[in-house]
Amino acid sequence: MLIVMDKKATGDEVQRVVEIIEANGFTARPIAGGDRVSIGVLNNQGPVDSSLFVGLPGVKDAIAVTRPYKLVSRETKPEDTVIQVGNVLIGNAHMTLIAGPCAIESEAQAMAIAEKVKRAGAHIFRGGAYKPRTSPYTFQGLGLEGLKIMAKVRETYGMPIITEVMDSETFEAVEQYADIIQIGTRNMQNFSLLKRAGQSRQPVMLKRGLSATLDEWLMAAEYIMAGGNHNVILCERGVRTFVKHSRNTLDLSVVPVVRKESHLPIIIDPSHAAGKRDQVIPLSRAAIAVGAHGLMVEVHHEPDKALSDGAQSLYPEQFSTLCRHVDQMHALLQTD
Ligand code: PEP
Ligand code: MN
Repeated sequence: MLIVMDKKATGDEVQRVVEIIEANGFTARPIAGGDRVSIGVLNNQGPVDSSLFVGLPGVKDAIAVTRPYKLVSRETKPEDTVIQVGNVLIGNAHMTLIAGPCAIESEAQAMAIAEKVKRAGAHIFRGGAYKPRTSPYTFQGLGLEGLKIMAKVRETYGMPIITEVMDSETFEAVEQYADIIQIGTRNMQNFSLLKRAGQSRQPVMLKRGLSATLDEWLMAAEYIMAGGNHNVILCERGVRTFVKHSRNTLDLSVVPVVRKESHLPIIIDPSHAAGKRDQVIPLSRAAIAVGAHGLMVEVHHEPDKALSDGAQSLYPEQFSTLCRHVDQMHALLQTD
């Protein structure tokens, strides 16, 4: 259930509703909206009696939330969530471009790529310090050293940074450095990691699992929000299908459904979906057309020498082209 407060409701009136929710053994989760506060009722096993709230001072309405993902749902928060990271906004009408290498390989590599993607128009720098690799014999990332290099990139180029957290052991370190914490495909249903992310103050980008349904993905996001962290960004990066012409299949059909079901921003990662760089620009254009709030793209200045995912990494010049296309398409879509 969602208790919608009046625009003029006072802090005391909100507090009284919270107390009634808690006195009934449920959890109250106030949600700041555009011009009013709503209070989500969580942890109820069955329907909640609306007469507990209707008629109380400051209460406008008590609405049953039908979706299993309560806080993620548009029923709970009708307006789009916009997440601010430094000077960058993610969500609603903003178009956010995240770019950088798959993995941080050295300071020189990270700096060279950061300089180029920044100049092309990237807003946020990506790079993996802890890498989830299929083979234990391949490059596993620089770990803490990689995080420190990313912090230097932020200092030098003024771009916020996003990097993946793989486990609870390294969560604190990643949290200390990252402006956005990425939870990767392979960890989408790592529930202890999701709970830990729920306690974080940093925004979290949750990538869709390789074979996750929409409901499973949104429920994973619900874990983070239920823990108290409302700054969640969804990222579609391709799902596993029978095809061989690409690494995965980018499920763009999920974008309008996510936007209907949820207020959270959704970013598209065409790089891990395609696996090949020649598909990345066309898929990016399609992602913008279908309503994505931004892109996360792998870029490398020397992809042939990349220690991971070179084949899908754009050359910096290709990323510049992509940025121009995105600008033009976004401007076109803003006009209606
Ligand atoms: C990544 O973005 O670096 C990554 C490993 O992606 P995914 O979790 O989508 O495979
Ligand atoms: Mn990669």
